[in-house]
Amino acid sequence: MENYDVIIVGCGPAGLRAAKVLAENKINVLALDKKQEIGVPVRCGEGLGLGWFKRLNLKPNSAWAVQPIKGAALYSPTGKKVEIRFEEVSGYILERRMFEKYLAREAALKGACIKVKHHVLDVKRKGSKVEVFGKYLGDEFKYSANIIIAADGVDSLTARRLGLNTTNKLVDIDSGFQYEMAGIDFEDPDLIHLYFGNEVAPRGYVWLFPKGDHEANVGVGIAGYREETAKYYLDKFISSRESLAKGSIIHINSGAVPVGGFLDNMVLDNLLVCGDAAHQVDPTHGGGIGLSMEAATIAAEVAVEAIKKVDYSQKFLSRYNKLWYEKRGNALKQRLKARIFMEQLTDDEFDAIADNLSGEDILKLAGGELSEKAKFMARLLIKKPSIAGKIAKSLR
Ligand SMILES: Cc1cc2nc3c(=O)[nH]c(=O)nc-3n(C[C@H](O)[C@H](O)[C@H](O)COP(=O)(O)OP(=O)(O)OC[C@H]3O[C@@H](n4cnc5c(N)ncnc54)[C@H](O)[C@@H]3O)c2cc1C
Repeated sequence: MENYDVIIVGCGPAGLRAAKVLAENKINVLALDKKQEIGVPVRCGEGLGLGWFKRLNLKPNSAWAVQPIKGAALYSPTGKKVEIRFEEVSGYILERRMFEKYLAREAALKGACIKVKHHVLDVKRKGSKVEVFGKYLGDEFKYSANIIIAADGVDSLTARRLGLNTTNKLVDIDSGFQYEMAGIDFEDPDLIHLYFGNEVAPRGYVWLFPKGDHEANVGVGIAGYREETAKYYLDKFISSRESLAKGSIIHINSGAVPVGGFLDNMVLDNLLVCGDAAHQVDPTHGGGIGLSMEAATIAAEVAVEAIKKVDYSQKFLSRYNKLWYEKRGNALKQRLKARIFMEQLTDDEFDAIADNLSGEDILKLAGGELSEKAKFMARLLIKKPSIAGKIAKSLR
């Protein structure tokens, strides 16, 4: 049986990032994925903000960062548009299957061993190690490692098999459905377009992420426990707009997004969990590419230390929890409150916010200027006192 320092289950952005960091540190690492091709099928709107490129030290490459974006247009239920536009590029729409292949090549170049079509069916502790069992093209395989990184996405079973409950509550899952559409018309291909409202997308939004002047990812995310499906809301949205309805659908993808906040504890003996498997998604918009890669970097760095110290205990690996909370977790907890606030808003209240908010205001609010926040809230509460109770509820 082949033995590794670390085995990663799942080669999405999280697993591939962890593989690269481990290999760079000369750790003997194996990364397994059940897919037959890295990056395929895509389950993603493919948007990634520029901040993530900087934080993750990624250089945009036209092979996978296909559409530069300079801001966002937000639409209220009655169609009021609030535009945030930057002088410079503020993010990219990716070609994610190419992006993941790029991440895989980078990891392999550093020395990671990546195996596709390797479906992990069980993981069991044996002595101080963990054994990984699965199937590759009908044949059984068995590997062992000191540490397992569970990066197997929203449906993760790996961590559960080792005793860590990663189950999502139904109420904390959003359902995403998307068409890649060609031959459509829309304004401003250098902006992402987000449409809000309880009729448009309950607890979520419709997105239009441009990929050129006449092509875009048009998708919707909604609370997963609705009677009507995400597809229903997306089809309704598209059919009400001739500029979209006239286009062709060239790719369909869908998936679940864990928006209920990340796991409080993401480690056990021999185990680190990261990415969607640990629910490390921004609860306000469902984006998880950057967060999963950031978490994977921290998890891999802690695994490197653990291998050096020959300590794979939960106590040692808990350093990952601590570093994650410090770097990102504490801020993300606040964003969960923002989501809870947003999901209570009526269409009327959404419109009142749009009426009282300019793109400039949003930037000031995002910049965290307290006096600006106070001024905005005062303005809003005079117009819509009903919002006060909802703010209080979300802060509880
Ligand atoms: C419709 C939709 C739109 C989205 N849009 C965006 C967006 O625009 N921007 C953004 O930042 N985020 C977006 N997200 C979220 C983003 O896709 C995820 O947060 C991100 O993919 C998480 O990466 P990951 O590596 O943790 O998991 P994944 O990308 O899900 O990778 C997990 C991998 O594990 C493998 N795996 C699972 N089980 C096993 C097993 N037993 N054996 C072997 N391999 C296994 C899977 O094959 C998969 O390759 C969207 C999600 C959805 C569903």
